[in-house]
Amino acid sequence: MNNSIEKLSFEILADLKNEIKGGVKTDPVTRVLYSTDASIHKIEPIGVAFPRDLDELQKIVALANEYQIPLIPRGSGSSLAGQAIGKGLIIDCSRYLTKVVDINQEERSAVVEPGLVLDDFNRAVRKYSLQFGPDPASSERATMGGCIGNNAAGAHSIIYGMTADHIISAEVILADGSTATLGSIALEQAIKKAHGAGDHGSERDLYQAALKIREEYLGEIKKSWPNTWRRTSGYNLNYLIPWSPNHPPQWNIDQMPYPPTAPDRINLAQVLVGSEGTLGIIRTAKLRLVSIQRYKILAVINFSSIQEACAIVPLILELSPSAVELIPQSLIHLARSVPVYAKQLTFVIGDPAAMLAVEFSGDDNALIKKQVTSLIHLRDWGDEPVLAESKAQQKQVWDVRNVGLGILMSRLGDIKPATFIEDMSVPVDKLAIFVDELDKILNEFGTQADYYGHASAGCLHIRPLLNLKTQLGRAQVRQIAEAAVDLVLRLGGAISAEHGDGITRGEWIERAYGPRITQANKLLKQAADPNGILNPGKIVDPPKMDTSLRYDDGYQPKGWLPIMAFSSNAPDPSKLVEAIEQCNGVGVCRKSTGVMCPSFQATLDEKYSTRGRANLLRAMAARGFPSEDMALHAVKETLDKCLACKGCKAECPSAVDMAKLKYEFYQFYHSFRSKPHPVRDYLFGFIAEVAKFGNPVAPFVNSLVFADVTAGLREKVFGLSKYRKLPKLSGTSIHKQAKRYFDPIKTVDCLFLSDAFNEYFFPHTGLDGLNVLRAAGCNVKILRTIGAGRTLISKGFLRQAKNHASRLLDEIKKIDPHGKMAVIGLEPSEIFTLRDEYPDLFPGDKSVAALAERSFMIDEYLLRLARDGTAWISKLRLREETKENGTNVLIHGHCYQKAQPPAKDGFPTGVSATVAMLERVGYQVNVIDDGCCGMAGSFGYELEHYDLSMQVGELSLLPAVRDSSEAIIAASGISCQSQIEDGTGRQALHPISLVASRCIT
Ligand SMILES: Cc1cc2nc3c(=O)[nH]c(=O)nc-3n(C[C@H](O)[C@H](O)[C@H](O)COP(=O)(O)OP(=O)(O)OC[C@H]3O[C@@H](n4cnc5c(N)ncnc54)[C@H](O)[C@@H]3O)c2cc1C
Ligand code: SF4
Ligand code: SF4
Repeated sequence: MNNSIEKLSFEILADLKNEIKGGVKTDPVTRVLYSTDASIHKIEPIGVAFPRDLDELQKIVALANEYQIPLIPRGSGSSLAGQAIGKGLIIDCSRYLTKVVDINQEERSAVVEPGLVLDDFNRAVRKYSLQFGPDPASSERATMGGCIGNNAAGAHSIIYGMTADHIISAEVILADGSTATLGSIALEQAIKKAHGAGDHGSERDLYQAALKIREEYLGEIKKSWPNTWRRTSGYNLNYLIPWSPNHPPQWNIDQMPYPPTAPDRINLAQVLVGSEGTLGIIRTAKLRLVSIQRYKILAVINFSSIQEACAIVPLILELSPSAVELIPQSLIHLARSVPVYAKQLTFVIGDPAAMLAVEFSGDDNALIKKQVTSLIHLRDWGDEPVLAESKAQQKQVWDVRNVGLGILMSRLGDIKPATFIEDMSVPVDKLAIFVDELDKILNEFGTQADYYGHASAGCLHIRPLLNLKTQLGRAQVRQIAEAAVDLVLRLGGAISAEHGDGITRGEWIERAYGPRITQANKLLKQAADPNGILNPGKIVDPPKMDTSLRYDDGYQPKGWLPIMAFSSNAPDPSKLVEAIEQCNGVGVCRKSTGVMCPSFQATLDEKYSTRGRANLLRAMAARGFPSEDMALHAVKETLDKCLACKGCKAECPSAVDMAKLKYEFYQFYHSFRSKPHPVRDYLFGFIAEVAKFGNPVAPFVNSLVFADVTAGLREKVFGLSKYRKLPKLSGTSIHKQAKRYFDPIKTVDCLFLSDAFNEYFFPHTGLDGLNVLRAAGCNVKILRTIGAGRTLISKGFLRQAKNHASRLLDEIKKIDPHGKMAVIGLEPSEIFTLRDEYPDLFPGDKSVAALAERSFMIDEYLLRLARDGTAWISKLRLREETKENGTNVLIHGHCYQKAQPPAKDGFPTGVSATVAMLERVGYQVNVIDDGCCGMAGSFGYELEHYDLSMQVGELSLLPAVRDSSEAIIAASGISCQSQIEDGTGRQALHPISLVASRCIT
C-alpha cells in the first residue's frame, strides 16, 4: 500500500468527489482545521470527507481500500491523545450521520449512527426514562462513534462500567469495504465464521484471530492485565475470554456477568470498542440503555489536601455511592474567572484544597437519604458537607466538574497543564499513594500538577504544568511520562482509563502489557486491516509519543500590534498570540446548547466553531498557510460568520474571547490598502452620525433609505438583505423631550447614556426609562449623545472607537470629575462596551476601570442602592391595581447580558437583573432557554448573513416565541427585538417599558 500518499491525486480526488455528495475537501484551510484534536499533537490530514449518509460512508472506505488511502474516522475530535488526527483522509461523521435509527423501549436498546452526539442521544431516549449508561464529561459534543472508538466512561462508571459494556452489536465497515454485523454469537457459530467458506475475507480473518487470541493468549492476558476494570489502553482482549480482574463496584446491570458476555459466547463488537478506528469503521451501533434513576443527592465535602480526599475514597465506596468525583482547588479558582461557571459555584464553602462530590442515587428516596446520613456521620468532616438536593443545584456541581479539564487549561501564558499522563487509573486503595508518589516525581522535575476526576474508579486526570514551546518542556514530557508509567504499573494500574492511547500513549502499550500482548494486538489488527489503512499508527505500530507535537522548534508565531490590550499592560502582539493559543481544542464550542457557538450550532461546520477560528488564527500567526494572502482570506471568511456574541468569552472553559479577536483582526485586515472596508461598514460603524444628520429630515430619509419599498435597492447598493425591515428615524429624540426629567437644583444621582438607537430611532423607550427613574426619585443627567462606540468596534474601526471613547470619557469627566456617578443605559451592546471594551482600550487607566464598575444596565441600577441605602426599585411608586398582577413575561436575554460574570457587589447582573426587576413590579417571568438571537447588531441585516442569522434564530428563540402566544415578549437589545419581529411577527418590548407601564410617573 502507498502509505506515503501526501496528497490525493487528481484521479482519486475526482472519484471521491463524484461519489461523496456530502463533500471531500483537500484545501489548506480544511487541512488546518482538522490537524488537531484536544491533544498535544498536530498532523495535517490529506483531506476530509463528509459522508452524507451511511452508503457514502461505505463508499469512502471502499475507495480508500482501492487506492490504499489511510483513513481516520472522526466525531467531534475531542480526543486527548491524538487518535482523531492523522496523515490520511479524515472521515467527519459528525456533520450528517447523526440519526437515532431505532429505539426499542421494551428491550431497552437503541440503534444509532456514529455522528450522533451523546447528549442528543440521551435527549431522544429521555421520554422513555432511559439513558446511555457511560457519561463522559464531554457528552455535550462527544459522538457515539467517538465514545465507541475510545471506550468512553464517566463519573458513574462504578455503576455502569464503560462503553464496551453497553454495546450489543455494531454494523461495521471493514478495511476491504465490506460490511459485517458484529454481536454476541455462540462459540460454535464463531468457529464456523472463522472457517466458513461463505463468509468474506476480513470478517473471517477477524474471527480467526479472535479465537486464536482467546485460546492461545488467555494465560498471558490474565497475567499481564492491570488490576483494574477501568482501562482503555490496547485492545479489549480480555472481553474475548470473557474475563476481567475485577468489576465496577456497583455493577448490577440486568444481572449480567462482568464483562457482560456469557462464557460460551463471543462478541467482537466489544473488542471494536476502544479500538480507535483501527479495526473497522462503525456504520451503526446497537446500544444498551439503562433506566434514569429517580432520586439523587450530591454531597460536596471539603478536604485540606488531594491526598486526604483520595485516602477516604475506599471508605466512601462502602456506602454504595453512584459517583465520587475529585475537584481540586485550582479548578475552583479558575472557574471563578469564567462567567458562566463563576455563577455556579454556590456549592463551594470557603477555599478548600480539594473537594469530593459524592452522589447517591436510585429509586428509593428513603434509602438515599439514609446513605447520605451515613456519609455525614462517617467521620468528623470539619466543614459540614454541602448537600445539593435539587436538580438545579446538582447541575451546578456537574457543570463545573465536567468542564474541569478545559478550565484547568485556561491558565494564561506559555506554562500550561499538559495532556499526556492525564488518564491513569490505579486500584482505588492505591489512589493516595499514587498521588503522593507522582507529586514527588513532578517535584523532581520542578513542576506540579492539577489532579481531578473519577476518584471512585481510581481514575485521575493529571496535568503537569509545563511549557511545551521549549525544548526542555518537551523533553520533560517524555521523562515524566516514563516515570509515571512505571509508577502506575508498579501499583497495578492502567496507563489509560478512558481517554485511549492515540499518539500520546501508544508507545507505552508494550511496556504496560509486554511483548506477547503486543503480538496479540498485532494479530488482531493484521486480520482486520492487513494493509494498515485504518487509523495507522494508533494502538499497533505506534510512533514515539513526542512526535508530531503541536509546538516544536519551527513554531514561531507572530502576531500584529493590536489596538486593545490582551493583558493588563499595553497592547502587545505576543499577548494577542497568547489569546489565540488559549484555545486548547477541547471542543466545548461544539455543543448544541447555550450561546456558544451559534454559527457552529446552525451549520455543524468546524470552520464556524470557536475552535475552528482559533485554529485558523493560530495557523496564520505561525505562517502555516502557503501564502499570507490565503491566510488573511481564510481567517476573514471564518470570522465573517462569527456573530461576536461573546458566547465563547462566557462559556468556553478557557474563556477564549473570539469577538475581541475578530475586532482586532478586522482592524488589521482592513489596514491593508488592498482590503478597504466596504461602504456598508461605514454606514453601520458611523450609524450615530448618520442618524444624527438624518433625524431632522426623518420623513425624507425614511422614505428614501429606510423604507420597505427601497429594500431591493439597499440590497444592491449596500448589501443589506431585502428581507429585513430597517427601523425608522423618529424625527424627534430623547434629548428634545427630556428636559423635564432633570432637576438642576438637586444632586445628580446618575448619568444616562442615550445611545444613538434609542436617541433617534426609539426615543419612547428612552423616555420609559427616564419615567421609571423619575418614579423612583432618581435625578438623572442625560449625557450628550455620543454613544459608546459599539458599532465602530464591531466593524473593526478600533482607532476611531478609541477616539470616540475618549470623547465620551471627557464628557463624563466634565460632569463627574471625581468619578462617583453611575452611568446607566438601555441598550446592552452600548452599556457593556463601557464594561468590557473600555478597560482594554485604555489599559492601566484606573479611572476607566472604575467607570467600568459603575456602568449598569437600567435594570441592574434599579436593583442597587440609592444614597439612603434603599434599593431604587423599592422607591418606585407603582399603580395599585398592577402590583400583584402577575402578567406572564417571556424574556430573551441579550448575549452580552448572558456573558456577564457575577457582579463584585453581589447584586444581580445581566439577565438575572432583568428578571429580578420585572418580578419586583409584579410580573411572572420566564427566561427563554436559548442562545444568540442571530441578529447580532448589523450581522443579520447583511445580505450574506441573512440565512445564517435566521437559522440561528430558529435554533430556539423563534420557536419559543411562537409557542408562547399568551406571554408578553421582552428583550433589551434592539437587534434582538428586530429579529423577533422579523422571525415571528411579534413585537418584543424593552423590559423597562413594562416597568414604566406599572409606575405612577
Ligand atoms: C474536556 C474533556 C473531557 C473529557 N472527559 C471524558 C470523560 O469523562 N470520559 C471519557 O471517556 N472521555 C472523556 N474525554 C475524551 C473524549 O471526549 C471522549 O472519549 C469522547 O467520547 C470522544 O468523542 P468524539 O466524538 O470527540 O471522538 P473523536 O475524538 O472524534 O474520536 C475518538 C476515536 O473514535 C474513533 N472514531 C470516531 N468515529 C468512528 C467511527 N465511525 N468508526 C470507528 N471509529 C471512530 C476516532 O478515529 C478516534 O480514534 C474528554 C475529553 C475532553 C476534551
Ligand atoms: S474555543 Fe474554547 S471551547 Fe472551543 S475548543 Fe477552544 S478552548 Fe475549547
Ligand atoms: S463570539 Fe459567538 S459566534 Fe463568535 S466564536 Fe464566540 S461564540 Fe462563536
